[in-house]
Amino acid sequence: MQAVMTDIYLDANATTPTLPNAVDAACCTMQEQYGNPSSSHCAGLRARAMMETTREHARRVLGGAPGGRILFTSGATEAIQTAVLSALSAHAGKRFANPARADEIRADEIRAEPIRAEPIRAEPIRAEPIRNLLLYGSTEHKAVPESMRHWNQILHTGCEIVAIPVDQQGQHDLAFLAAHAGRAVLVSTMAVNNETGVISDLAAVEVIMRQHPDTLWLVDGVQALGKQDIELAKTRIDYFPLSGHKLYAPKGIGMLYVREHAPFTPLTAGGGQESGLRSGTENMAGIAGFGVILAELIEPTGMFCDLAALHRYRDQLVAALLEAFPGVVFNTPFERSVPTTINFSVPGFASKELLDLFDAAGIRVSSGSACGGSKATRSYVLDAMGLAAWRSESAVRLSFGRAWNDEQCTAACRRIVESGSALRNACLFTEAASQRNDFDGVLQMKHDGACTWLLIERSAALCVIIDPIAELGERIERYIRCQDLRIVAVLDTHSHADHASSRVELLTHLKAHVLDATSTADGLGWPDAASETPLDTLAFGHYQLRRLPLPGHTADSVAYILNDLRMTGRPRQVFVGDTVLSGGIGRSNFACSSSEAMYRSLRLLANEVGTDALLCAAHDYNHEFATTLAVESRSNPLLADVLADVPMSEADFVSVKKQIDATLNDASGSIMMCGAVRCSGDERSASVEFTPAGLRQYLQQHPDATLVDVREAYECAMGSKLGLLDERHALAVPLSRLTDAAPAWLAAPDKALVFFCRSGNRSSLATQFMRRLGHPNAFHLRGGLALFS
Ligand code: PLP
Repeated sequence: MQAVMTDIYLDANATTPTLPNAVDAACCTMQEQYGNPSSSHCAGLRARAMMETTREHARRVLGGAPGGRILFTSGATEAIQTAVLSALSAHAGKRFANPARADEIRADEIRAEPIRAEPIRAEPIRAEPIRNLLLYGSTEHKAVPESMRHWNQILHTGCEIVAIPVDQQGQHDLAFLAAHAGRAVLVSTMAVNNETGVISDLAAVEVIMRQHPDTLWLVDGVQALGKQDIELAKTRIDYFPLSGHKLYAPKGIGMLYVREHAPFTPLTAGGGQESGLRSGTENMAGIAGFGVILAELIEPTGMFCDLAALHRYRDQLVAALLEAFPGVVFNTPFERSVPTTINFSVPGFASKELLDLFDAAGIRVSSGSACGGSKATRSYVLDAMGLAAWRSESAVRLSFGRAWNDEQCTAACRRIVESGSALRNACLFTEAASQRNDFDGVLQMKHDGACTWLLIERSAALCVIIDPIAELGERIERYIRCQDLRIVAVLDTHSHADHASSRVELLTHLKAHVLDATSTADGLGWPDAASETPLDTLAFGHYQLRRLPLPGHTADSVAYILNDLRMTGRPRQVFVGDTVLSGGIGRSNFACSSSEAMYRSLRLLANEVGTDALLCAAHDYNHEFATTLAVESRSNPLLADVLADVPMSEADFVSVKKQIDATLNDASGSIMMCGAVRCSGDERSASVEFTPAGLRQYLQQHPDATLVDVREAYECAMGSKLGLLDERHALAVPLSRLTDAAPAWLAAPDKALVFFCRSGNRSSLATQFMRRLGHPNAFHLRGGLALFS
């Protein structure tokens, strides 16, 4: 059984552990000093004293002016809501108070006004400009623009919500702010960015804000607390929200500083706690915990390291990243950022892949961006900074806190370097450290819904590449070099309309790996020598590809049928380009398309390969890997009718197909779908899941079940909790090899398959795939290894 590795936590900007002293203080308020601070008896008085001590600490840490108010909230999101509500309520109040501005007020708002006998006479318009903007920095935490949108809608304030652009360093466009601040109700400029650690130039913003004293100013101080000196009394900041759990206090406690005379509207009404600023009994455990942290900032007792140590840790981590990932690019401008955040990208790797790698290494990091279905994950912060798209899609954030130490930093650096080695050994990072694996068969590579297929014949070290996409070019090249494969052919299944094939580039870059540099080929890469064989076949080692013309989607569409010469029977896999996709059939409304030809091609395909052959398409929009004609016919009545024993007529097919194609985006659309693909959902087979306890029980009762680890090789190389999962050997079949493994599994439908991965997402997809293809005994571990202990 493998030892369980300890976590290295490098996600302090998301949250931090609660420090022991803060836990003790919180527990004390729950178990001993549990009085309600609103009670007048001694228990209540003691509770109130503790609460006011924390407030006083906060005042000192924030350097707030005496008249400023500090109220406790549930966190920064609530504090931000309160600030935005306050600003917008004040604005709404002013508009009602000034009938001359009635043009700004919607009709349904003025309906409630008393009916007057005399028409309203417009008062002279005051010199004050019309305020109707809500300005926020474009890299602001979502809590800010979303609160603005929410309250603007609820209060019918009708403001325009506008993002202040930032430059490549993440700094606000001051000229833009200066030009618009006078028309703004509220301006929000965060102190420190949570994804990049960028420190905003608040002094420069302040110069502009002082010229517009009536414009309210919100500064999100969450990521600045404990990392920067704050002196609110010296600024004209109106609202300053904070959060406890970003600085080692418990979750569920935050606060809002409100400058004296800044408008205020309570978010909650009720018992009048917090001097009426926020009703509801206070979170005393949170306040006690936060109090300990704030006290530490005032009079350090050694809980936190100093700024110099933080800079040293950053230097060490940066050095480890440079060693682990040659080519790494840093998205954090280090000269204008807090030392505790390092945002970086690695060319050729999506954030998700790097996160999986780090997680497997026991390093908890984050991409700092929202995940989005089949689309690539990207960072809106880096997008706003105008960084290249690949950097935003590959971004990873390492963040540590003030309670870090030398030992943790050394361990983190060691594991980062080990992660780099794991990538190298999987041939994903460099071709230098050649580590040949013994994989033989079909490998799927994907980028944003488009697929490239590699057919690898291991014994003779040969390879055929089908439908290469430019975005995967580097990765394919590294793989071929690292595995030292000879390229027999690089093929396209048709002339792609939505993306360029990288066939020619690949052949040029990999010249030394081309098996026969003198051979000639047609426009799709099919060797002339293969065309001259009686059955139009290309043999490489124990594999053979046969070309089958399938005009329809385009005039030149073909399928390549893969046969394993060591076996007889149905084809192993069929590469069908866009003729049939998981969830639909290819569009046939291009200039070079023909629905009539597609009708005949679909019938020909069924005759040639049968309805159960595994079809590998040039697109996989919904993470379905591969499909068969039988599977597609179940959810696609048109295809079912074409393939029926008594098929629909060609004319009927053409007419229905025309209607379907008309619903697809045309080439000018933002995404060009190459076929009418159903949305994921309804027709998907449910994946049958086990809880960890359920799985243990099932494995005891089914000792012959096959466990399949669908994580990538580089993740498995970093070790796992597999020893805890089961003593049996688990098959390592990453999703990229699922299509290769499927035929053998489908041939043994009684043998149970149990997929697992890190979080349960990939294993769920694998289970759905096998069930859709008709395997009745495919299961997976819900929540993945992350929940298995
Ligand atoms: N503002 C920033 C900059 C943050 O980083 C966060 C947390 O991610 C928030 C606001 C929201 O904080 P809370 O979790 O306390 O609501």
